[in-house]
Amino acid sequence: MTINRTAERVRSFGTSIFAEISALAVQHGAVNLGQGFPDFAGPAWVKDAAAEAISADLNQYAPYLGLPRLREAIAATWSAHGWREVDPANEVTVTSGATEAIFGAVQALINPGDEVIIFEPFYDAYVPDVVMAGGVPKYVRLYPPLKDEGGRMKDEAQHSIASAEPSSLILHPSSLSWSFDPAELAAAFSPRTRLLLLNTPNNPTGKVFSPAELAQIAELCIQHDVVVIADEVYDQLVFAPAVHTPIATLPGMWERTLTVNSIGKTFSLTGWKIGYAVGPADLTAALRAAHQWITFATSTPLQVAAAVALERAANCDYYAELRAEYAERRDLLADVLVGAGFPTLPVEGSYFIMADISQAGFSSDADFCRWLTRDVGVAAIPPSAFYADTCDLPLLARFCFAKKPETLRAAAERFQARGFRFQA
Ligand code: PMP
Ligand code: GLN
Repeated sequence: MTINRTAERVRSFGTSIFAEISALAVQHGAVNLGQGFPDFAGPAWVKDAAAEAISADLNQYAPYLGLPRLREAIAATWSAHGWREVDPANEVTVTSGATEAIFGAVQALINPGDEVIIFEPFYDAYVPDVVMAGGVPKYVRLYPPLKDEGGRMKDEAQHSIASAEPSSLILHPSSLSWSFDPAELAAAFSPRTRLLLLNTPNNPTGKVFSPAELAQIAELCIQHDVVVIADEVYDQLVFAPAVHTPIATLPGMWERTLTVNSIGKTFSLTGWKIGYAVGPADLTAALRAAHQWITFATSTPLQVAAAVALERAANCDYYAELRAEYAERRDLLADVLVGAGFPTLPVEGSYFIMADISQAGFSSDADFCRWLTRDVGVAAIPPSAFYADTCDLPLLARFCFAKKPETLRAAAERFQARGFRFQA
């Protein structure tokens, strides 16, 4: 008899969808628009700062809270965005990516049996994070946008994307972008609810929660004394007219929110894993208590370079240029997908675009994505990986546009080579 030595707490965890699809993409030489990472370099001045820090022998442990210079740069960034004056000594913690900040915050803030509200589809790490802390996830659905009578997306902001073909998405009332039902959200709260995990701009939907939606969430969290972990790693990847509002800036929310970010997305350096959390001193102290026993501290020279990145970005047009470049990539990928017969949904933020695959003849998005990767040579992620309940899902695939134009054009060539066009 084989003994299963895997602890119960992790026994149900399979391989992440990103690892599976990336491996399949390598095996079949597919253009990888699956796992979210840029295929272009981060800024040379940030890389130079890291190289200099290594040469200068800044190579020993950093303080576990994070290098003072980086914590100050994070506080200055909050101040420059007009969000809040933050105390770098007591309200900022540097972690190994946003991933560690979220894991540590969940460990630090819930007891076994406590409930955590998660919008679905969710970034896939959230559920294991809650399960490993003994918590109970409670899901609230985000519904895809409606089309109007003419079959066009109702969101007028979507210019070329708006002209996408009609889709057969699940319909839901009152929807201009992905939306939740306020009654379903209210019903998810119980006396055991401790945390709400919010991701805006959202992976995988591309939704940016509006101030009105954030106010609804805030009101319920205040009423039920619930803490929010706000995952805002795509905060600089927001496309006008959408505007990112940190939920921590809403009245009554600073004292109950830990805002998580990372330089991975903003500076195209996902492999560096420099993340951070900003929040009031008591929540920060809780996170630090967990963090000191999880990774203790994170890479010293890369923290120096992350500080340089934030300091310099605040004093030039870096963020505006980043957004402009991403808007071009988004439009290019939307054109490629629409041209191949996959209507695309609006993207308000993040570097992901969802495409309607309902006309492709597959009943499962995972089968579609495996087939697309293997037989067509374009890798995409099936959003069902981001749902706990996979009943009644819209048939979509998530494509990443953090790619060079030539990569996106290579994907177009793969589609063309297969004579792709599902719809007339
Ligand atoms: N949150 C979301 C929504 C993400 O998409 C990702 C990353 N890919 C992360 C967190 C993890 O960020 P990091 O790489 O900084 O750990
Ligand atoms: N966040 C990235 C994505 O959504 C992947 C990160 C990972 O591989 N865990 O594609």
